[in-house]
Amino acid sequence: MFSARFAILAQKLSNRLRGSTPRRIVLALVLPFVGVMAAFGIAPDTVTDTVDRKTVVEELKLPPLAVTDAAPEQTYWREVRIERGDTIASVLQRLDVDQASAVLLLQHTRDARALYRLIPGRTVRAHVSETGQLLALRYLNSTQLMKVDLDRDVLRVWEGPADVETRVHMRSGEIVSSLFAATDAAGMSDSIATQIADVFSTDIDFHRDLRRGDRFAAVYEVQYHQGEPIRAGRLLSAEFVNQGKTFHAVWFDSGDGQGGGYYTLDGQNIRKAFLRSPLEFSRISSGFSSGRFHPVLKTWRAHRGVDYAAPTGTRVKSTGGGIVEFVGRQGGYGNLVVIRHQARFTTWYAHLSRFAPGLHKGKRISQGEVIGFVGSTGMATGPHLHYEFRINNVHHDPMRIAMPPAPPLAPQHRAAFEEVARPMSERLALLRQIRTTSAN
Ligand SMILES: [Zn+2]
Repeated sequence: MFSARFAILAQKLSNRLRGSTPRRIVLALVLPFVGVMAAFGIAPDTVTDTVDRKTVVEELKLPPLAVTDAAPEQTYWREVRIERGDTIASVLQRLDVDQASAVLLLQHTRDARALYRLIPGRTVRAHVSETGQLLALRYLNSTQLMKVDLDRDVLRVWEGPADVETRVHMRSGEIVSSLFAATDAAGMSDSIATQIADVFSTDIDFHRDLRRGDRFAAVYEVQYHQGEPIRAGRLLSAEFVNQGKTFHAVWFDSGDGQGGGYYTLDGQNIRKAFLRSPLEFSRISSGFSSGRFHPVLKTWRAHRGVDYAAPTGTRVKSTGGGIVEFVGRQGGYGNLVVIRHQARFTTWYAHLSRFAPGLHKGKRISQGEVIGFVGSTGMATGPHLHYEFRINNVHHDPMRIAMPPAPPLAPQHRAAFEEVARPMSERLALLRQIRTTSAN
């Protein structure tokens, strides 16, 4: 165990390119009662932004990852969500672990059953060097925790009962180049960044709507094992300011067996009939194309659809619940999926490299379900998704459609919701206040 200690780490990444740029500050904050940020790391690409940034971390227990070598190499922690069909090899690839480390790990963990029974929805957390060398790996399935540590060529594996404690973290940040760069700077894992994008996905198209200066704050759970963060848990509440418009979400489970969901601070259901974007939001898809905030190749007006540039293989999700009306090849569309929603609406997904396994005409699809993968089939010059939204077979700009919300909170759950929402609202307000007083 590390002894309790208190340190403030202030890091200033100065502006080397444009001195006249207005100062902006990305503030990573761990309030004293909140706990530790041990896994503090900045991805290498985030230091090249053209504005001043300052990261302040109040740290209570663990020292920051010490840089001991004479020629220090950047290292960072990354956390990825396990998807259906993942293998440990595909997970390591998404964690940016190099081939040599992956081989070493796979050779020495043949008996580690946990690694070969990956549970979709869970996360794997890895400490990786700039060059992709694996330094440590943490995986918590339902009952067992697996810890792998690599020191040069010595690999230690530990597996044991998962006695974890849950702590609540609060962080905030400002978008300078991308959401992931901002969450990296704030010390938030990809899992939390993705949850934020998912939660607000019916209001914000995270591939097209984000702007420099957008801000976010989040309150979320992190699970610890012996003082070490093992994995990010659930996003409990969040605030997102996009192009001056503020959105809130609070997690609430009424306990009536219907499962929890996210609501606005005044109890409106945050879910809507359609997602704003059909593309999976990930570190890879968000950074694709040269203009990070402009992954769109053509405007809707030009060809009555929206084009999203994304790497081949990026997951494509149905923006609403419905029935598969068409799956197959169709002229310039290439591999095409059409989903019918509530009789009047259809959504079209074109140029796919392949379809989701088992997809067939008449199949019922839920909102956000993966239906295919980005490609460049048909008349496409490069990998992208062509997305259309039609009402009674007439094209509409999906960004201009008012999305009717799901039913609000039932009156009998109102009081219980207030109990949850009030302290969350106060925490978000606190984060906002700290941000305002710190920025200049
Ligand atoms: Zn198109």
